[in-house]
Amino acid sequence: MRTVLWTTAASMLVAAATLGAQTPADDPAKVLVGRLALESYKGTIKGLTQFGDRRQGTDRNRAAVDWIEAQLKSYGCSNTERVTYQYAGRQLRNDSTNRVDSIARAAAGATQPPAAGAGGRGGAGGGGRGAAPRVQNPVKGFTARSGVNTNPMLQPDTVIRALDAQWDTPGERQEVFCTKIGTTHPEEMYILGGHMDGIGYGSAANDDGSGTALVMELARILSAPDVQTERSIRFVLWNNEETGLNGARAYIDQRAVLQGKEDPAGSGKYPEPKWLAMIQHDMMLWDHGMPGPDGKVNPEQRREADVNVEFAGTSKLAAESQKLAWFFRTMNDRYATDYPVAVGDRMSNTDSDAFRDLVTSISLRENERLSQTGTGWSPTWHQPADVFATFSDKDFRLGLNAAQTTLAAIALLTGATIKP
Ligand SMILES: [Zn+2]
Repeated sequence: MRTVLWTTAASMLVAAATLGAQTPADDPAKVLVGRLALESYKGTIKGLTQFGDRRQGTDRNRAAVDWIEAQLKSYGCSNTERVTYQYAGRQLRNDSTNRVDSIARAAAGATQPPAAGAGGRGGAGGGGRGAAPRVQNPVKGFTARSGVNTNPMLQPDTVIRALDAQWDTPGERQEVFCTKIGTTHPEEMYILGGHMDGIGYGSAANDDGSGTALVMELARILSAPDVQTERSIRFVLWNNEETGLNGARAYIDQRAVLQGKEDPAGSGKYPEPKWLAMIQHDMMLWDHGMPGPDGKVNPEQRREADVNVEFAGTSKLAAESQKLAWFFRTMNDRYATDYPVAVGDRMSNTDSDAFRDLVTSISLRENERLSQTGTGWSPTWHQPADVFATFSDKDFRLGLNAAQTTLAAIALLTGATIKP
C-alpha cells in the first residue's frame, strides 16, 4: 500500500517530465520549493533561539511552545493542538549527585566538555572517546570527544547564560502540532517532525532549532491559501527528545489507537489520520567533515556536504522505509539546489526511532548520527557554541536543501496542487 504511493508519486513525476511542463502549475513541487527562502528559514531559527536552549520542563521551554503555536497559526496552520503528558525525570545538570549526569560525564571521559572546534585526543581508529563504538557502527579515521555540557558557566555570552539559568522540574509537559487536511484522503497523513527542546547551555540553534524551523517553514508554505493536498500532513514539534524521545513516545501512547477513526461518526473529521510515514529532521546545518588528527573540525562547510537520509535497517519496516529514503534522494536530485542526499541504514537517536516498527520512518540530518555525529563531526552538539552566530550562510543553506528535499517529496506524496 505504501509502496504504491511512492511508486505512484515517482511515475507522476516521470509523466510530468515526459509531457514537458508548460506552466508552473504542472510542477507544483517546483513552485512550492521556489517559495522556500534562506532568510525566512534563518529568521525562524533565530526566533527559536530567543528562548535559549529550550530545555524541557522550564519556563523558557513553555514560552517556546507558545511561540511556535502562535507562529503556526499566523502561517494559516490554525488548527493547532497540544499533546499533554507527564515527565518525572530530570535533564542532565552540573551536579555529581545526578546519576544520569555522572554517567554522561564518565562516557564523555571529561569533567570539562570540549568547546566547539577544540576536540580532545583525536586519533585514528576510534581513540579519544570513553564510550565503546557500537559493533554495527565501525568507526573510521579520526574522532573527537563528544558529550553533553552540564556547566552553565561555560556559556561565554552572559545574556544566553541568564536565559538558560532555570533548571527543569518534573511534571506536566506539552508539545504542539498542526495539520494540513487532505481534500480527498483526510483520513491518511504524513508526519513531519523536529524537536523543539534542547540541551547544553547554548541556544539549541542547530540541535534542533534547525529541524524545528524546517518543519515550521514547510507548515507555512503548505498552508498558503492556494495550496491543496489530497492527503493530510501533520507538522509536529516534539518536546523531550533529549531525555529519550519522551514527547514522541507520549504522542504514540495517546494517539496510535485513534488512527483512521472518524470522530464524530459521519463528520468527515479524523482527529488522528492513519500514519503513512514519519519524517524527522534533527540537526540540519553542519557538515564540515571528519575531525583532523588534532581533533579539530574544518571551520567551513565542506564543499561535498550532503543531507543524510537514514532509515533503520533493523526495523520491522526496513524495506518500506528504505524505499522512502531512496525516493527522498530522487526528489533531492530533481529539486534541491546545492547539496545532494546520501542514504544510510542506521537511523537512530531521534524521534523517528520511536516510530520505527509502527510506520515507515526516516530521518534527515547533517551527518550520519552514529558514525559521524557520534564520533565528533558536530563539535557544537550539546555545547554552549550551539548558538545562531556560530553558523554561516553555507551552513544554513545545507538545512535549506533538506527543506527543499522534504517539501518536494511531500508535495508529490500528498498530491499537492496549486490553484491558478
Ligand atoms: Zn537533536
